[in-house]
Amino acid sequence: MGVRHAVVAGGGIGGLTAAVALSRRGWRVTVCERAAALTGIGAGIVLAPNALRALESIGLGPAVSAGEPLAGALGLRTPDGAWLSRTGAAASRYGVPARAVHRGFLIDALAAALPPGALRLGVSVGGVDEAAEGAVVVRTSAGELRADAVVAADGLRSALRGQLFPRHPGPRYAGETGWRAVLPGAGLPALPAAETWGRGERFGIVPLADGRVYVYATAVAGPGTRPADHRAELVRRFGAWHDPIPALLERLDRPDGREPDPVTVLHHDFYELAAPLPRFHSGRVALLGDAAHAMTPNLGQGGCQAIEDAVVLAHLLAGGTAVPAALAAYTEARLGRTTLISRRSRRMGDLARLSHPLAVSVRNFAVRATPSAVTARGLDTLLGWQPPPGPEPAPGSPQASSRSVDIKEEER
Ligand SMILES: Cc1cc2nc3c(=O)[nH]c(=O)nc-3n(C[C@H](O)[C@H](O)[C@H](O)COP(=O)(O)OP(=O)(O)OC[C@H]3O[C@@H](n4cnc5c(N)ncnc54)[C@H](O)[C@@H]3O)c2cc1C
Repeated sequence: MGVRHAVVAGGGIGGLTAAVALSRRGWRVTVCERAAALTGIGAGIVLAPNALRALESIGLGPAVSAGEPLAGALGLRTPDGAWLSRTGAAASRYGVPARAVHRGFLIDALAAALPPGALRLGVSVGGVDEAAEGAVVVRTSAGELRADAVVAADGLRSALRGQLFPRHPGPRYAGETGWRAVLPGAGLPALPAAETWGRGERFGIVPLADGRVYVYATAVAGPGTRPADHRAELVRRFGAWHDPIPALLERLDRPDGREPDPVTVLHHDFYELAAPLPRFHSGRVALLGDAAHAMTPNLGQGGCQAIEDAVVLAHLLAGGTAVPAALAAYTEARLGRTTLISRRSRRMGDLARLSHPLAVSVRNFAVRATPSAVTARGLDTLLGWQPPPGPEPAPGSPQASSRSVDIKEEER
């Protein structure tokens, strides 16, 4: 059998990880990204232990490990600063500490691991057609491509999902809008990662591995609500909350230390898929990441699940396995887990969005009364996930030499 070719629609976190994972399993890959440049739009992202283990399994551990891991406790607070819960750092429980990185850093690290010539920018995928001899033809804005398999990683509003599952209801509004920004960290004391829950409003603080601080805020609002001035809106909503929130909001007006202009505030409404897909594959096309299971960001797992999808898919497509059988196994491996996590994320949002004072008091009492060991155990299925065995490292790669050292030591 000759080298098989996969076309990946979408150069986001999921598509790039899939392309790297497949190329490391011997596939030729072409990534079609409709944007003219790869951009890490979206401020920061938390890579939880499950995603980091998945990246490690395909040899990307060192590429995403620059800077400091998320240290100390992760906590939940009330607007006056009282702690509702504090769980220990995940490192001790899951063997690898979570990392919060700038999305640009993650996208650059993934793109740098692509084989030369694999990425085609400014190329939009319009649809797929089954062809003879087990191939599939991908219609793109730059002409047709022939592939043995297609990875639909084209995000929340996936065109391929629309074509393959025309009766699926697609995305629905999750009831909240959110702001995100990355602030300069110089001069700030060490900040614990924490989320503060008010009445229908949340504010999150996450120190990034590169020394900057990722902040986010959410509010219950109708879809498409657009305040005239995002900074003023954030100060109005959160300016009287506990320290260091007011001081962090002041930093929105300053350059982030890398850019000369004031910090960019991103504002997006939250969407999720209205219903799970019946399958994550159709013919020779596998759906992955937000295209397959866009979820609310309440558990910070959308990107992590896209990474898990990618390494599982590449594992199942390795070694000459027939594509239809591999894709059926992929659905089997991923649909249940991601459906469960989407549901948990939605339930977490339902709690966080409460705004009636009585409901908020009951919620806060319940969170305070839950022992941190119970909270931590509840995360085991999420964060303790193990990836399938990774590909053999290429001869001469740093991974290959470290693996051969291990073997030699065992032989002694
Ligand atoms: C506020 C917020 C905070 C979040 N925080 C976290 C977090 O901390 N941790 C976490 O794991 N997840 C988080 N997520 C979720 C995470 O951002 C997404 O799940 C993740 O980006 C999905 O990656 P993807 O590659 O599937 O899709 P996308 O990132 O949407 O990438 C899709 C790509 O496909 C391209 N594309 C679209 N259509 C086409 C086409 N027809 N042809 C070619 N290219 C196309 C797009 O331009 C894009 O580059 C958060 C989400 C939000 C909204």
